[in-house]
Amino acid sequence: MSITPLMPVYPRCGVRPVRGEHCHLISEDGRRFLDFASGIAVNLLGHSHDGLVGAIQKQAETLMHVSNLYGSPQGEAIAQRLVDLTFADTVFFTNSGAEAVECAIKTARAYHQHAGNTEKYELITFSNAFHGRTMGTISASNQEKMHKGFLPLLPGFKYVEFDDLEAAKAAIGPNTAGFLVEPIQGEGGIRIASQAFLEGLRALCDEHDLMLVLDEVQSGVGRAGTLYAYEQYGIVPDVVATAKGIGGGFPVGACLATEKAARGMVVGTHGSTYGGNPFAMAAIGAVLDAVANEEFLADVRAKGERLMARLEQFIGNYPELFDSVRGKGLFIGLKMKVEPRAFVAHMRDNHQLLTVSAGDNVVRVLPPLVIDDSHMDEFMEKLSAAAASYQPEGVA
Ligand SMILES: *Cc1c(COP(=O)(O)O)cnc(C)c1O
Repeated sequence: MSITPLMPVYPRCGVRPVRGEHCHLISEDGRRFLDFASGIAVNLLGHSHDGLVGAIQKQAETLMHVSNLYGSPQGEAIAQRLVDLTFADTVFFTNSGAEAVECAIKTARAYHQHAGNTEKYELITFSNAFHGRTMGTISASNQEKMHKGFLPLLPGFKYVEFDDLEAAKAAIGPNTAGFLVEPIQGEGGIRIASQAFLEGLRALCDEHDLMLVLDEVQSGVGRAGTLYAYEQYGIVPDVVATAKGIGGGFPVGACLATEKAARGMVVGTHGSTYGGNPFAMAAIGAVLDAVANEEFLADVRAKGERLMARLEQFIGNYPELFDSVRGKGLFIGLKMKVEPRAFVAHMRDNHQLLTVSAGDNVVRVLPPLVIDDSHMDEFMEKLSAAAASYQPEGVA
């Protein structure tokens, strides 16, 4: 037997965290890492946050799970909070981002099919998108590396170039149900949709009665400096998928929709055994308590601006390594001129700094939203030391 007990689908590195302390992780061998990866934009309150831990502990003692056969005071309360805080009129809770996107896809299809338009099933999606790893969500992405070995894909998706409004418009046909798009691509490399693009998609949806479905699984819950990134574009989506940060580390997601968009999501059309159980609702409640207020979000924006300004200034010292800095809030990408994965590994293994690589030669800088200036100082020190000691292959 040579297969590992953990199915070997991840290229796991040598860091083996066993404990978290605020913005640091401690590994099995005792090393202490500055965590500017946050479990890929998940741990937005850092680790061992009192409010989150306390809420989960209390709920575990009170009631962890019942079935969706019963009434849910916990789910109703959290759904109402999300409705009050966003464009949405109604919420379906899931256990992950991919499931939130699945629900969003089903909602968009059902919107048309409920009205008898059975031919309108196709979502137009965008190059280098990432929507998850289920059959539906890999089919929604044009990235062939995720398709290999899993064919055939599900029908009903058409890919066009990200941020190309003319291409999106040209792709609309009799089968189009809507658009599925990340307002800021995460895995794609912190690629920020232009104002004209998202506004244009909204206008096309209005003109052709299509669904504008946003995947904010990574960009949402304060990461980009507003509760959801769409707010910064002044547009109103029809459906939004959210997850990652919304549980602060507890596995939970949600599909948010307007009443109009959700017209097909009636009794018996969708479900999930765990989705929205009291345990998960306690986690969302604690995260929203901390994040969903203007003071906290303004602070995220201010910290993001300070960190990006420092990065901008810093990269000038290493023009052979770094290309540019981009982002919103604490959703930051450092575009490199060399392959970023080796540099991410160098920062990790030699300077105890955790970041995440992404498409388009980008290092993602995703600190917990609760960092202060001392963490930014520590980050800049580690990054500087890492750049000074780095010997990329192929660069003299
Ligand atoms: C991570 C991610 C997903 C998938 O979330 P999972 O919880 O891994 O299923 C979907 N969309 C985007 C934009 C993501 O970043």
